[in-house]
Amino acid sequence: MDPQTVFCHNPACPARGQVGKGNIGVHSQKDRRYICRECNSTFAETRGTPFYQLRMAKDVVVLVVTLLAYGCPIQAIVAAFGLDERTVVSWQERAGKHCEGVHQHLVERPRDLGQVQGDEIRVKMQGAIVWMAMAIQVRTRLWLGGTLSTCRDTTLITSLMQKVRACALCRPLLFCADGCSTYVKAIRAVFREPLRFGQKGRPSLRPWDNLCIAQVVKQYVRKRVVGVDHRLVQGSMAQVNALLRQTQGRGTINTAYIERLNATFRSRIAALVRRGRALARQTTTLHQAMYLVGSVYNFCTYHQSLRMAIHLPANRRHWVPRTPAIAAGITDHLWTVEELLSFQVPLPRWTPPKRRGRPSKATKALIAQWCS
Ligand SMILES: [Zn+2]
Repeated sequence: MDPQTVFCHNPACPARGQVGKGNIGVHSQKDRRYICRECNSTFAETRGTPFYQLRMAKDVVVLVVTLLAYGCPIQAIVAAFGLDERTVVSWQERAGKHCEGVHQHLVERPRDLGQVQGDEIRVKMQGAIVWMAMAIQVRTRLWLGGTLSTCRDTTLITSLMQKVRACALCRPLLFCADGCSTYVKAIRAVFREPLRFGQKGRPSLRPWDNLCIAQVVKQYVRKRVVGVDHRLVQGSMAQVNALLRQTQGRGTINTAYIERLNATFRSRIAALVRRGRALARQTTTLHQAMYLVGSVYNFCTYHQSLRMAIHLPANRRHWVPRTPAIAAGITDHLWTVEELLSFQVPLPRWTPPKRRGRPSKATKALIAQWCS
């Protein structure tokens, strides 16, 4: 147990969410509990992870979640481990929720995206159809997040664009998608910046400069592709070519990267397999499964095309494998699934309660110690 790597979880504690400030000590080695000396509350080592308050050994949970993240059917796990089906489903839920938190904390940070591709998958559920929209950063193959909706409409695409925007810096950006016209509207609505001149009221919104939008429209005859039409909706061809060279080396406008990612998701979520029998019943289950698979893809799997060559003497080369998270500079090593599940997402900092009048000396001391 290392008190330097954990933080207090008490929402009312001034030291909430702050690591390495010396306020945490070991309360019990036997029960694996820490104590916060600021608020005198104790908490379990597993607080803030999917292992919290589970009776099953951590190794078994990690093993089961790893199998789920690589597409093992729940029934196979039930048969192999002798667990109840509801237990396995609840672990998947816990892991999915946790991964969504990790994703929001580590991936949804502004970065220079270069080229982004987006696409939707039609998912057959029990008695319903839902659409799953996802986006990928081409250069690092980083999965940027996904959303679900019962219709392939503006709401679905706009919420996906809001996720992409959370990951984007205002730099030259190329967005490639299919022929769905909603993309253009949604991108133009979301990628805007407020212009503030110190006046009252809602500021006017200015669209981002250097934003290119391209569409890849496929023509079908009897469900077979007979032609592909590349359309440039916004931006200049020179700008698009520069961004394509920067992010994928060579080639033209395409949606191949997101289609390849869709194939990975289809093989790893049993409910997404075409003409399969393992239909999902609830959208939330699908949402959590998507975040589990996406985070394991980002953090825990080497990507063949991301490996980097290190040139050695005598014309020899050494290949260094990388995960999308390493390529994006989020981490420096391959995470194990246990590491992903044990990652504690820091809580937002404590804000002093609002009271009328001047703050007391004690409150002032707390603010000086924890809020500076
Ligand atoms: Zn505390």
